[in-house]
Amino acid sequence: MMELGTTVMVITFIFNLAMIGVAGLFFHESWREQETRAVKFGLAGLAIHICFVFLLITVPIFQYILLIYLTVLVFFGLILLVPGRKNASALKGTSGCVVGDVEKFDERDVVFARNESLEPGSERYKQYYETHPDLKERDDLRRAKGGNLGRICSVDGSPPIIVNMVKGSFSGIKTMESNPHPQVPQGDEQIQIDPQEATERIKKWALQLGADLVGIAKIDQRWMYSHKGHLREYQDINTWGQEINRNFTYAVVIATEMDHEVMYAAPHSPVLVETMRNYSMGAFITSTIANWFAQSGYEAAADYASHYESLMVPLAIDAGIGQFSRMGYVISEKFGARLRLAAVLTDMPLVADKPVDLGVDEFCQACKKCAESCPSRSIPMEGKIVKNGLLRWILDDDSCYAYWGRVGTDCGVCMIICPFSRPNRSIHRLIKWLLKRSPVARKLLPHLDNVVYGRKWKTRRSPAWVNYKPQ
Ligand code: SF4
Ligand code: SF4
Repeated sequence: MMELGTTVMVITFIFNLAMIGVAGLFFHESWREQETRAVKFGLAGLAIHICFVFLLITVPIFQYILLIYLTVLVFFGLILLVPGRKNASALKGTSGCVVGDVEKFDERDVVFARNESLEPGSERYKQYYETHPDLKERDDLRRAKGGNLGRICSVDGSPPIIVNMVKGSFSGIKTMESNPHPQVPQGDEQIQIDPQEATERIKKWALQLGADLVGIAKIDQRWMYSHKGHLREYQDINTWGQEINRNFTYAVVIATEMDHEVMYAAPHSPVLVETMRNYSMGAFITSTIANWFAQSGYEAAADYASHYESLMVPLAIDAGIGQFSRMGYVISEKFGARLRLAAVLTDMPLVADKPVDLGVDEFCQACKKCAESCPSRSIPMEGKIVKNGLLRWILDDDSCYAYWGRVGTDCGVCMIICPFSRPNRSIHRLIKWLLKRSPVARKLLPHLDNVVYGRKWKTRRSPAWVNYKPQ
């Protein structure tokens, strides 16, 4: 039999070794992620627990102090493991934030559509601003400064290598442009397929085509645009103002991951290269699947880049891809907000996924990192408000896009600073696992995160292939 003193010594020694391992892992991960403040915490943790080893060996009484420390940590860990009630409104998906009548959104009111489709002096321009005089001044100002993104990558002096990467990436979309609405071939029989089988096949195929996440939403008609607003040079008919009333019932929603290392450059040029790559991926995946639906005798539309008939964020929430957040993006479990969304709308019967509760709502109440780091102060610091029958945080998209116009990129600071957006590995995975289950973790961890990682965004080094700085 071991004596009590020896038992305590062995337990505390093993525990301390484990803590050295955890601190070392945290230091290593933080170093890879260029989290300078967290690196210091990792180093401090390592140093303290290495000192404990010497104290354990040289000062026998210290083992009892360490035992108290161990007991407190275990107790704290157990509290974090106590599961709580799920957020009922999150589990209802978008219906959980509907508190009144919702009027369908009109794509003509989207800032990008206004900028692309309303040519100054045209009849369409005149008519639109007669009914929306409040938008005219800021839209004219945006046009005078070069449109939605102003001069591409102007924040970095528009380096030609990077600007051409942006254009090259976007060209992928143009190869798909002829077919966002594939025609069902005349005379062919509609294939009959069990909805469960169709769903499983399509989901696996979407992943094979390059999607990182895929979910199925039963389409809530409130999230279909009422009218077309984009007038793209490659659309063969003038669809601006056309009423959208196609009878789609399901949406295959896909998400592709925005690479975290490229996003470290936010708000600089690499972010825009990565955005365009993702839009092209979305165009390829959704056009391919939309064509399969049409060939199989079902109506389909590929919604990507500027070919939208529906709103991506609500569809993604109802498809179980993630949750709505303070910054307005969908936050997923694996990649946080580092996502680009696209969808295929169809009338083929499928099996819908369920909305998820990842703890985002409660985390966002306390976190506010995105709002504090937003260069244009477009993300609200306050609570949710009701607009058009929906209770949610509302982004000031005008000031956000004005900032995009100034820097010539799509910024991405809010997307990358979000704690959920950290790489999907080790410690971050454990934290997300806890957030899914524990009400205490949802309350406590946003504050802890602010202490360990800091509150403000600092641009980091991005990979050499997308270096935007003059050599
Ligand atoms: S940064 Fe914080 S407040 Fe903003 S969306 Fe992410 S979790 Fe929510
Ligand atoms: S993209 Fe940039 S400017 Fe727009 S809300 Fe996010 S942080 Fe703010």
